[in-house]
Amino acid sequence: MTQLSLAYIFQHQKLLVDENLQLPQVEKLASDLPIHHDDQVIARDLLDDEPIPEGYQLVPIRELIQSWDTSDFLQASRAVQLLEWRRNHKFCSHCGHMTEVHSREYAMVCPACGYHQYPRVQPCIITVITKGADEILLAKSAHNKSNMYGLIAGFVEVGETLEEAVQRETLEEVGLKLKNIRYMSSQPWPFPSNLMIAFHAEYESGDIELQVEEISDAQFFKFNELPEIPFKGSIAHSMITQIIGQKKAS
Ligand SMILES: [Zn+2]
Repeated sequence: MTQLSLAYIFQHQKLLVDENLQLPQVEKLASDLPIHHDDQVIARDLLDDEPIPEGYQLVPIRELIQSWDTSDFLQASRAVQLLEWRRNHKFCSHCGHMTEVHSREYAMVCPACGYHQYPRVQPCIITVITKGADEILLAKSAHNKSNMYGLIAGFVEVGETLEEAVQRETLEEVGLKLKNIRYMSSQPWPFPSNLMIAFHAEYESGDIELQVEEISDAQFFKFNELPEIPFKGSIAHSMITQIIGQKKAS
């Protein structure tokens, strides 16, 4: 009897699912990438010229975050990131030779010089900033045409602590100094392979001064007068609702 595996099949950042957003079952191929080494779930690329199977559709993973529960979304996020990593490491970045897939680990190994390339995540901080008992800083991205106001976020630089990154990004983007920076939670965010690390900080000093290339507007909003905020399922949404809930309860 043929054994079928549950499959995450992607074309770029879109996942193949049926009309009920369920994954297909497929016969395993040698080129499939196991999502965990101890289970049968696999990930696979659907090439641009391959047909979409009858009854299936390609759905952007950004949309699945709103329909699936978190653990299902994280599994899909892991699958797409592993495929992307394998696709981008076909050659050794040290000597340029073609690499081979390691049999047990997630590593692309160079047979010529022995260099191992592992999947990487990009640490990215995101900060909810409050002022007093009932105000929150929200900022509108200069790259986003919508009216949505989000949180201050950015990549951690080489040689920097997470707290320093929070302080630096806030100073750069809105010109404010912070105090009491505290860790909240984290979430993998596969666009393309970020780890979002969430902090709460309090306003310390300074006047809002925008970095116009990045931010088109930023203001302290009263909790009961919020503008449009990021969608449910995003870490920004849960951070904003959690902080407001805590402050109202205290
Ligand atoms: Zn090499």
